[in-house]
Amino acid sequence: MSATPSFAPVQVRDESELIRLAANEVSSAIYITDAKANLIYVNRRFTEMFGHEPCEVLGRRGRDVMGTPHYKEADYARIWADLARGREVREEVRTLHKSGEEIWVSLTLRPLFDGDGKFKHLVATMENTTEARQIQSLQRDVLEAVAQDLPLGEVMDVICRRVEAMFPEVASSIVAVDRDGKLRPLAGPQLAREFAAIVDGVPIGPMVGSCGTAAFRGEPVSVEDIETDPLWLPYNAMPLAQGLRACWSSPIKLRDGRVAGTFAFYFRDRRGPSTSHERVVDACLHLCVLAIDRHEAQADIAKLAYFDTLTGLPNRSMLRRELDAAFAAHPERERAFLFLDVDRFKDVNDTMGHSIGDQLLVEVARRLQQQVGPGDLVCRHGGDEFVIVLDSCSPDTAAAMAERVGLALLVPTRIPGLALPITASIGVSLYPRDGLDTDTLLKNADTAMYQAKAEGRARHSFFSAEMNALAQERLMLGAALREALKQRQLHLRYQPQVSAIDGALLGVEALARWTDPKFGVITPDRFIPLAEEGGMIGLVGEWAVDEACRQLRAWDNAGFVVPNVSVNISPLHFRNADLPRVVMDALRRHEISSNRLTIEITEGVAMDDCPIGGENARSLRAHGVRLAMDDFGTGYSSLSHLAGLPISELKIDRSFMQGLEKSDSSRTLVTAVIRIGQSLGLRVVAEGVETDAQRRFLQALDCDVLQGFLFSQALLPDDLRAWETGRHEAIAARGAA
Ligand code: C2E
Ligand code: CA
Ligand code: CA
Repeated sequence: MSATPSFAPVQVRDESELIRLAANEVSSAIYITDAKANLIYVNRRFTEMFGHEPCEVLGRRGRDVMGTPHYKEADYARIWADLARGREVREEVRTLHKSGEEIWVSLTLRPLFDGDGKFKHLVATMENTTEARQIQSLQRDVLEAVAQDLPLGEVMDVICRRVEAMFPEVASSIVAVDRDGKLRPLAGPQLAREFAAIVDGVPIGPMVGSCGTAAFRGEPVSVEDIETDPLWLPYNAMPLAQGLRACWSSPIKLRDGRVAGTFAFYFRDRRGPSTSHERVVDACLHLCVLAIDRHEAQADIAKLAYFDTLTGLPNRSMLRRELDAAFAAHPERERAFLFLDVDRFKDVNDTMGHSIGDQLLVEVARRLQQQVGPGDLVCRHGGDEFVIVLDSCSPDTAAAMAERVGLALLVPTRIPGLALPITASIGVSLYPRDGLDTDTLLKNADTAMYQAKAEGRARHSFFSAEMNALAQERLMLGAALREALKQRQLHLRYQPQVSAIDGALLGVEALARWTDPKFGVITPDRFIPLAEEGGMIGLVGEWAVDEACRQLRAWDNAGFVVPNVSVNISPLHFRNADLPRVVMDALRRHEISSNRLTIEITEGVAMDDCPIGGENARSLRAHGVRLAMDDFGTGYSSLSHLAGLPISELKIDRSFMQGLEKSDSSRTLVTAVIRIGQSLGLRVVAEGVETDAQRRFLQALDCDVLQGFLFSQALLPDDLRAWETGRHEAIAARGAA
């Protein structure tokens, strides 16, 4: 044996002392009993774990010392039965510290037998699992809070409070680092509010306390004396005043490496973290990452819910949220609501495709945003509607802004194929004058926008109380009209059209009439636009065609022959691909030859870029139905448009009749229209003929057909027959005279 002095074994008296030494070094608590289960040995860790000195426990039974409150006799019996068979027993048990505090341990029991197989000793090793269990339960609670979608601050507060319950020596805090690298306190149940206020908004950096520095470095920073450490110099007054002397802070790193916050332990003594602190914080950091991840994902989802994906503008929900908050915060401020609807957007979308439509909306959004100030709000209300809310805004400023927005939209775009400038109709409502809440103000701005559209688009209009009354009436009338249509309460009157040469009855124009039991007689100039807005115009048109055909058949059957009936079809309805079928069905149903029906359309149809209008016109004409261009001369009609449609008849608008006797320009225009009609081989009808002078003038120009009060108003079917009979009798009487 040539042992060198440096490797000389520790001088021990005997082997058992060596074992004792070793047993005191292990991290587990160990006890050994005799055959009667009385303790004959406990190691140092046992004393640390349970608080009992060896002299207090030796000779007593283990279960009497540590208690296992939840064990019943049956549990002990089961364990002893296993041990008697020589089996090792592992249990997770709740034991009691000398102080009465519960300690969870992971217990291993091993029986030892003598040479004869007689039970001699029980060797127990115990690991304290209290901390692991506490961490588990903390995790459970935090996960539950996360799953319940508690606000991030509240989740973090749960973490802090749980950790502080485990470590009474610690005051904890969690601080977020925002996208700009600034500290944003989230939780710190024991820290003074003013402390959080000081920390809030401080940029992270190499010398910014424990947290700012840990976030900056991306690694834990332990400052054992806040008072003297240079990292804390500018910030230490507050924590020191609270009796906090040390601070150990760990960065919360997300999966992508970004530091999203810090988790800090403040101590009242000058010290650093214990290994137990480190273990718990390690577990908590994972929970923080999870909570922040979830929070950010939710923020993304919220963004989807509150922002329009196409334009990036806040959407209607966001508008409402923001405004409710703004009204609550500053109810005294004047505000203006601009409700903006892009003119003829539907046409762009239908004729040029959604991609161009989308580009247009994005462009509008961009231009609107350029016009408003920092306190103002632009949002996409849906479709082609935008809302601008101007903060602290007088009526004059609102009008100026509406003008400015209109001009900004007019600037030509680079959108391919979009030749026409963008215009919008804008309705303005004012807070508090026109309403006190978001809903009312929006509704009123919408009403004003409708007014701007009605006045010819590309303009703005302020909301007024009478406008509101009108809007309300419109709503009620709309409902009444729907009902009237259902109940078939509309009827047609027929206005004769006579030959300019011999006065013979050539046809009638069917004109709709509505007498509502409550509102009385409502003229078509009012209810037709209502039907168009309310999506009922198709019903009106279908009904009118059917009713006119039915009447023609009734007259035929009664032996009164009206050669032709003209029915007005709204341009909106004329875009409906179903129209030719509906018309042909009606003709067939009432056995009317198709060349006895004329459909009156307006120049809107010819102007319309919608291809279906043209197809419908061609299809109807192919079936023999005649088409008349109504109100000719009023719109921006172009002759090329006219030539493109299979028109049989031109109707000179009645507004030109009055001028015939006085104004040269009216005469010139009417003359031109008649010549155009003739050159295109069209029948020309003059409507609104009221005087004999007008009739003579039209006759001189070879106008074919005349219609107007000079001959008759629109009449009920029976009255029409009486009118016609009366005319013949008059002629006969004249002839007889
Ligand atoms: P419109 O198609 O231009 O119809 C002619 C209008 O002029 C009728 O007014 C008629 O009563 C009126 N009128 C006829 N002769 C004279 C006259 O000598 N002097 C004056 N000042 N007016 C005369 P009404 O019936 O009030 O219809 C107004 C408009 O309502 C019609 O204008 C037409 O656009 C629309 N409308 C009427 N019925 C229907 C319908 O069934 N469907 C559709 N879509 N529109 C209809
Ligand atoms: Ca007409
Ligand atoms: Ca007309």
